[in-house]
Formats: sequence, structure tokens, C-alpha cells
Amino acid sequence: MSLFVQKFGGTSVANLERIRNVAKRVAKTYDRGNDVVVVVSAMAGTTDSLIKMAEEVTESPSKRELDMLLATGEQTSAALLAMTLQSMGYKAVSFLGHQAEVCTDRAFGNARILEIGAGRIKEAIGKKKIVVLAGFQGADPNGDITTLGRGGSDTSAVAIAVAICADVCEIYTDVDGIYTADPNICEKARKIKEISYDEMLNMASLGAKVLQIRSVGFAKKYNIPVHVRSSFSEEEGTMVVNEDSGMEQLVVSGVTHNKDEARITLKKVPDQPGIAAKIFDPIADAGIMVDMIIQNTRAGGQTDLTFTVPKKDYKQALEIEQKVAKEIEAEEVWGDPNIAKVSVIGVGMKNHSGVASIMFHTLAKENINIIMISTSEIRISCIVEEKYTELAVRVLHTAFGLDSDT
Ligand code: ASP
Ligand code: MG
Repeated sequence: MSLFVQKFGGTSVANLERIRNVAKRVAKTYDRGNDVVVVVSAMAGTTDSLIKMAEEVTESPSKRELDMLLATGEQTSAALLAMTLQSMGYKAVSFLGHQAEVCTDRAFGNARILEIGAGRIKEAIGKKKIVVLAGFQGADPNGDITTLGRGGSDTSAVAIAVAICADVCEIYTDVDGIYTADPNICEKARKIKEISYDEMLNMASLGAKVLQIRSVGFAKKYNIPVHVRSSFSEEEGTMVVNEDSGMEQLVVSGVTHNKDEARITLKKVPDQPGIAAKIFDPIADAGIMVDMIIQNTRAGGQTDLTFTVPKKDYKQALEIEQKVAKEIEAEEVWGDPNIAKVSVIGVGMKNHSGVASIMFHTLAKENINIIMISTSEIRISCIVEEKYTELAVRVLHTAFGLDSDT
């Protein structure tokens, strides 16, 4: 007998028929003698349409009231699922975030979970009830309702799994797991059986559509195994686990791409203390996230500095740096939004050399120019021209032996 947390996303509870399917699935787990806590998202499209409605009322809805509104999406699906289970003859009870003592900070719209009491959940489990928890929501210390950011019910699920010491946290979604590359651009992509928390965190561009990335950080911190699987089939999905758990440590376990960045270069910047701070302070003040940074040494006391920002912030970042360049007397600023980041990721890289050179050779063979490179312990990323993204992903996938026919 085990304690399961099962989370069902928006598409899995999109209508009453699907809610019935979810209920059957939950019941099956329960009938095998397990305890189950179900976490639900809002029915597909609900959160978006609530946001749209708020924006029709006012251009800038108050964040507190927006959370009051958005939380109703999960309240609806939780109640409907609990009712469905009851109609099938099961003892079920639904709880909202605050009823389960999901305590968060006061960052409306993007709140962080501080702790979870879960007193009533534990009590209900003790009475052999199936618990349905509304995901995505909590309450701040004043009792005001907060939400955890888009996709936040994944984090609710992992956090509740930690709070009640669940054996496993299953995330049921509309894909059947995490893939070695985006199957939409790489035909030979395979479903990954097991992946480590750190790999998953690095696979943000692949995985973020499947799992809210914050939930993976949570799972890692508390060592909760997360099973990402499809709610439309019985097939096993992908286990996200601790890398010391005996999983196979592949040198490269996935290839990701991200077309969402743009690069900005400042040419002939004075090579002096304090200059980098002057370049990046106003970017930080504008709330723009910088990803890669590369600085060259140059002769003559000058250097070139290149960095990347999200595409949506490109214009603003460029304008900021044009001002900065005047101030620090850099020669010129230019940018390029037509780039993409292609990365190979694998925990086995820690103990293997030569991964970078295989990557560079593979791209060179296709005449793909590498514009920037960055590395971490388990990842190598190259910035290439955007038009080469798909090709780069495919050839790297093959070069590292990930193709489904090998
Ligand atoms: N309903 C929320 C959203 O769409 C939370 C979630 O589905 O995880 O972002
Ligand atoms: Mg989701």
C-alpha cells in the first residue's frame, strides 16, 4: 500500500466526460489499496478566459483580486471531481489551498509556498477518503488567496507530496513523458524512461511545457520521485529522480532548443573595473533576465561584450544599452533577434571529456556557425542562427546516439 499524489492538468479535466475518466483512474489506484490525494488544474482554457475577463474590466486589474478570480478555476474542477467520485460510491472530499494550509508569501500571481500544514488532508486520508486538492493556489499569512504562477498546480502537487510524505507524485498530462528532443522537430526523438532532477531543470525549454520548472526544484530539494505520464493511456511515462538512485547516467540524455532569446553586443567597451556593472545594472533594474554573457579580451584596453536576453525584452534592452554605450564610450551596440540556443544535456558529462568537441564537429559538418558557447557541469549550449535550429537539433540527436532506431 502506498500514498499517491496524482495531479491532473487542464486538458485531463477539460470536460465532464474527462473528469469522469480521471475519477475512474483515481478509483483504480484507490481500489488497489492505496491512499490517493488528487491535485487538479482548472478545466482547459479556464484560467486564460478568466484573465481575459479581468482585462476587459480594467487594463490593470489589482493583483489581489486577480488571484481571487483565478483561484475559482481550480475550485470548480476540484468540486466537480469530488462529486464525480462520490457519485461512483467513493468517499471523497475537496479542499481549497487555504483549507489545506498551503501557506505562501504575498507575491500575488507568482507566490512561493512557505509551508503546508495539510492537517485536514491527513485527517481525511486517515478516514480512507480520496482527497481532491485545488492546485495552483494558497493563502498568504493574512489569509488572502494567492496563486503560484502559470502551471503552478505542478508545484502544488509536488509540495503536497512532500507535506504528506507521499511515495510518489504522478503528474498526468496530455503528453506521455519527457522526450530526448522536441518530437515536433526531431522525428527520431524518444521518450526518456528516467531523468535526473538536474537534467530536468536544464531541459527547461523541453520540459517547461510539461512541468512547471519550480516544481522540479521542489522535488529535488525533498527528493520526491515525479512520474510524468499521460492521462489518456496506461503506459509508463518518465520518472524524474535523484541521479544517485541507480538510474543510467547517460553522457547526453537530451537535446533542447530555445528560439526565445536575442543577443546584444557592445563593441569596443573600455576594459576597466565597474564597466560590466554599468552595462548590466539598468538591465536588472528593468527586470530583464540575462542568460549568457561573453566578454573577450582585446588589445588596446578595450573589449567586446555580448549577452542574451528573452526576445520579448530585446527592443527594450537594446535601447537601454544604446544609452549606456554613450555613457561608457563604447564604440557601438548592435543586436540580433534571429538566434537560437541549442543545448546538449546529460549528467554523465561530468565524467566524460570530448562532449564539446563532438558537438562542435557535428555542427561544423553541417556548416552551422557557432555564435556563442556556454557550458555548465551537465550542459553545453551553442547559439546559432535561428534558421539552423531544427537541423542542429537533429544532427546532434543522431551524433549522440539518441535516435530511436539506435
Ligand atoms: N490553471 C493554472 C494555469 O493554467 C495552473 C495550472 O494549470 O497548473 O496556469
Ligand atoms: Mg501544466
